[in-house]
Amino acid sequence: MAHFCEPCYLDPTADWRQPFETRVAGLEPFADRPALQFDRTFFYPEGGGQLGDAGTVRFGAEERTVVDTQIDDNGTLYHILNEAAPADWLGQTLSAQVNAEHRRDMMRAHSGQHLLSAAFHHTAGLETKSARLGKRTISIDLEAPDVNEKSIAAAVEQANRWVLANHPIRVHNPDPDQLAAMPLRRPPKVTGNIRVLEIDSVDFTPCGGTHCSATGEIGAIHVVAKEKIKKLVRIHFHCGLRTLAHLDQREAILTAASNHLQCAVPELADQVQRLQQESRALRQELGKARTEAARYEAEQLHQTQPAREGETTFIRVESADIDSARKLADLLTARPDVVAMVKTKVADDGFCRIVVARGSQAEFDAGAWFRGEGKSLGARGGGRPQKAEGKIPETVAVDNLAK
Ligand SMILES: [Zn+2]
Repeated sequence: MAHFCEPCYLDPTADWRQPFETRVAGLEPFADRPALQFDRTFFYPEGGGQLGDAGTVRFGAEERTVVDTQIDDNGTLYHILNEAAPADWLGQTLSAQVNAEHRRDMMRAHSGQHLLSAAFHHTAGLETKSARLGKRTISIDLEAPDVNEKSIAAAVEQANRWVLANHPIRVHNPDPDQLAAMPLRRPPKVTGNIRVLEIDSVDFTPCGGTHCSATGEIGAIHVVAKEKIKKLVRIHFHCGLRTLAHLDQREAILTAASNHLQCAVPELADQVQRLQQESRALRQELGKARTEAARYEAEQLHQTQPAREGETTFIRVESADIDSARKLADLLTARPDVVAMVKTKVADDGFCRIVVARGSQAEFDAGAWFRGEGKSLGARGGGRPQKAEGKIPETVAVDNLAK
């Protein structure tokens, strides 16, 4: 059965910040969570892209926390509790209070959505298809295949100028004639009892949410990401204290990076680019040096184990790392009679790497070795008959392999 609850949260003239008295009209749970129904409430139920209110309820010495507010399809409003209320609360008048911190955050974020949507409309003629507001992220979806950085910057600047101008925000409940005369940015999604939000000198839109009383309360609006979704562009942004928290976090990261790289923050990008170039050049140098070293080592090994007519020569050797091991295996097996087994030093995961390869005349199957002897020794990996590689326990000595 639906409970009617007077939605005081829709009355912009009533003060939602004060504790209010209300009668408990029901104790029906919401999705197996304990909840209360009231005769009247200032708790806003989740809807219109805005999260439900939290707060507290008190009866005598007993107190419960309202963790969320929801409304079902029948219009029954649920004040969801951290812990079930005693059955004798039914019919009693208790004191309730909305969590102001959470509500202000929601109002700032939601009013910020209005303002940023109005700014994209004003500066680029773009319509907002929908909006989402969560505990961590705020976003609007613009009807456009893409929006360039310049357009985003222009809209953000416009929105922040409106914040600084502190335009009053008003709620209207117009009759059909008044509604027809209002310059609505978009048509209402519902019919009858249309509620219209006016941002003075900026925007008229139908909306049933909760809002700040002036744009100055929204605080700085800051776009953090753009995401293309089918034919829409999702703009993620912060406002108010969320902007401050985001910028504080960025500041801490930049400070840490500038300390690590021993340069000032404005020089960070150049410094990182320099280090990348330097590291690329060093990797190339290292690659050349390793090839040189492997070539020298392969020559030495070939000399100590010369080819013998009609025989396969096994060369078992250790190498510093996988790059060197691959190079050495290639160079060793350039001689047709050689089977090379090159094991590296132990890596971070506690295993050594091993490269097994054969020359063009050698009778050996490198891939099959992993399935046979390798497997019995705890090696994992595989490949072709000519060349295979994988991991092998550190305790396995390369000198005893394939004997
Ligand atoms: Zn709204």
